Amino acid sequence: MIGSFLNVCIYRLPRGKSIIMPPSFCPNCKQRIKWFDNIPAVSFIILKGKCRYCRAAISAWYPMVEILTAIIFCLNFFFFGFTFSFWVWCFFLSSLIVISFIDLKFQIIPELITIGSIVIGLGLSFFYPEALFPVKENAFLNSLLGVLIGGGSIYLVGLLGNVLFRKKIKSLGLNESMGFGDVELMAMIGAFLGWKLVILCFLIAPILGSVVGLAVMIKRKEEIIPYGPFLSLASLICLYWGRDALGWFLMSM
Ligand SMILES: [Zn+2]
Repeated sequence: MIGSFLNVCIYRLPRGKSIIMPPSFCPNCKQRIKWFDNIPAVSFIILKGKCRYCRAAISAWYPMVEILTAIIFCLNFFFFGFTFSFWVWCFFLSSLIVISFIDLKFQIIPELITIGSIVIGLGLSFFYPEALFPVKENAFLNSLLGVLIGGGSIYLVGLLGNVLFRKKIKSLGLNESMGFGDVELMAMIGAFLGWKLVILCFLIAPILGSVVGLAVMIKRKEEIIPYGPFLSLASLICLYWGRDALGWFLMSM
């Protein structure tokens, strides 16, 4: 059900529409969708991927987002149990799902979510640090450094890209391959994961990006590949396995 709500956000946020009203409708014939046709993933299968009224194809992205959300919530339960942290990470990863799919479709990263989440992440680290970190000490500093190092690292890569590839500098002072949205996204990831894991995330994302990016470039000959989904996937990996990986790395040094 939350995945279904995330679909609404993915569809409406970039179009500047309210995410609360009106109720779900078919984008083709504008017919309001009845509750029994709006059951996450199940309705898509029953309706064979077509609108009941106009038979227009329903994008397969919708059930994919719903199933992905369900899988991620199950993983969160597996890693965090039914705790306050569970809900915090559900919020964090839900935000990343919305950001990733909007970035994939529109090549933009909604500031409403990134800036809002930075504030929430910093607030949590101050008022309820155990929701984010295993140790309470210096939690706020950890989050704040995460914001600065996360955002700063991508910003520097953008500047470096400008120098190396001599791309046109946009009004924001960043090149075309790395928009300011990515800077805000990494700042958000840093606010929630802290400075150590955001560095790990910064190092993992390009590995994921280059593998998938190369495949996409060869297949579709597209040059612009949104980076948001890779940063999101890297931060999911860091959330679940990052601390273990860092611990193992420091132990073996
Ligand atoms: Zn329709």
